[in-house]
Amino acid sequence: MIDHPRIPLAGVIGSPVAHSKSPRLHTHWLRSLGIRGHYIPMDVSQANLREVINALPKAGFVGVNVTIPHKESALALADVVTDRAALIGAANTLIFRKDGRIHADNTDGYGFIANLRQNAPGWVPDSGPAAVFGAGGAARAVVASLIEVGVPEIRVANRTRARTEALRQEFGTKIVTYDWVQAGNMLDGAMTVVNTTSLGMEGKPDFRVPLDALSPKATVSDLVYAPLRTNFLEEAAANGCTCVDGLGMLIHQAAPAFERWFGQRPEVDEATRAAVLGA
Ligand code: NAP
Repeated sequence: MIDHPRIPLAGVIGSPVAHSKSPRLHTHWLRSLGIRGHYIPMDVSQANLREVINALPKAGFVGVNVTIPHKESALALADVVTDRAALIGAANTLIFRKDGRIHADNTDGYGFIANLRQNAPGWVPDSGPAAVFGAGGAARAVVASLIEVGVPEIRVANRTRARTEALRQEFGTKIVTYDWVQAGNMLDGAMTVVNTTSLGMEGKPDFRVPLDALSPKATVSDLVYAPLRTNFLEEAAANGCTCVDGLGMLIHQAAPAFERWFGQRPEVDEATRAAVLGA
């Protein structure tokens, strides 16, 4: 374990942040590993973001997660940025280094792939095209990670067409864009299918894209984890697909950050899921 002179603190900065499951997750890991640390939710406005982030290391913070709406701003505030965070254009993890510099990373893509590998062990990335619904911040992380693991073609459809075009410009010729009204056509032959939109989330509209063309051989994942079994996943499961929920991604993306802050790699297991779900 890293030798900290003070009780190490970490947390999540967002606005709103009260709904975040990260405090429950990190507190579970801190307790189960016997680390004398704390993880705190912090609701911070855009106007105060820089001041708060610069003050935290002085108060004993070893790092923070960053969530909506600060992921892009946090990247700009960092002194050192990983390649993947730069490619995605957003940070979800800040590490406050002992030399005073702020290191920014984005572990969402890592979490997405680790979740698929753990919960769909038969998934073969290069077995066929991927179909990605959505082109927001999470989609950028998913697309970058799918390219990295060798998916040959990534089809993307988004309600706002300009965002899919931006993805194609930045991520290159593996990206094939579709109109949102024809998003169901992406499914033809797709072996990896991902919902990165907020559709289907509690309090948001339902996911209504027709899934008729979905192959039973496809591995299907939803980034939404509240509810855990979205209609999108229910329909895919009824079609015979291997389905992976978004909670695993949330947990996996947190593990490397926890390790960097607190010096121990945490377990991603059933006990962790149960702790996050409050079971
Ligand atoms: P974001 O940047 O705001 O993107 C939201 C996406 O949803 C955009 O593609 C947006 O399309 C689409 N969308 C929203 N309302 C829509 C509607 N009525 N019809 C069609 N499309 C709609 O947010 P984000 O950070 O990418 O997050 C997206 C989702 O992923 C959220 O549910 C978030 O909780 C989840 N997430 C989960 C994890 C995890 O660890 N499991 C990690 C990150 C994010 P437009 O571009 O047209 O607005």
